[in-house]
Amino acid sequence: MQFMVRQRTKRLFIVQCAQTHSAGNLFKQKFQSLFVVRYFFMRLIKPVRTERAYRFDLIFYAVSPLSLGLLLYIYSPLESRAEILLLGLVGLVLWSLIEYLLHRFVLHGLPPFKRWHTQHHNQPMARICLPTALSMLLILLLVFLPSLCVFNIWQASSFTCGVLSGYAIYTHIHHATHHARQTNGWLARRQREHAIHHASHHFSLQPKERNFGVTNQFWDRLFHTAAH
Ligand SMILES: [Zn+2]
Ligand SMILES: [Zn+2]
Repeated sequence: MQFMVRQRTKRLFIVQCAQTHSAGNLFKQKFQSLFVVRYFFMRLIKPVRTERAYRFDLIFYAVSPLSLGLLLYIYSPLESRAEILLLGLVGLVLWSLIEYLLHRFVLHGLPPFKRWHTQHHNQPMARICLPTALSMLLILLLVFLPSLCVFNIWQASSFTCGVLSGYAIYTHIHHATHHARQTNGWLARRQREHAIHHASHHFSLQPKERNFGVTNQFWDRLFHTAAH
């Protein structure tokens, strides 16, 4: 009898140990997978600071709008070319407003984007950029998919191509405002205005921060945030 009780207690102990062990493992595995997901998510949304990633971003945004435009030109139906071109132009113009609003209210107003953008303001010559995968994902989720609800695939692609081209132009002009040497002309004006933006952020030369537009000053003039 005593032997049977001892055996039963032993079995119970083993089962309890196994349960505790597997529950612990499960918790550990869940914790590890959460940690991995968080790690990749943070890597995806944090700005990157490597020369290679910066160069890749510039090349990618030179090639991708041109490729998409070419594909649309080759494969889109002939009869809807005019409206496709028009929607591309609408997307391009709309980008200039997105650029202004994003810079003014998100990059200068909304954490953690504000903190990340401050890195650029603190080190204007450092090669810092948004991960290419993230900017593409945002364009896909916030521009292409919503436009598919309104337009057909050709129109939505063309509208997205316009926004993508606007973002590509912004990326290259912003790079040039910091790294090109120009003394006159249109780009020199962009450089001067963007330098005022950086100065107004750091030294409070103005009562408010100025010149949020990088590719143009139209929206700054309209919303009274322009400075020359
Ligand atoms: Zn800024
Ligand atoms: Zn800048």
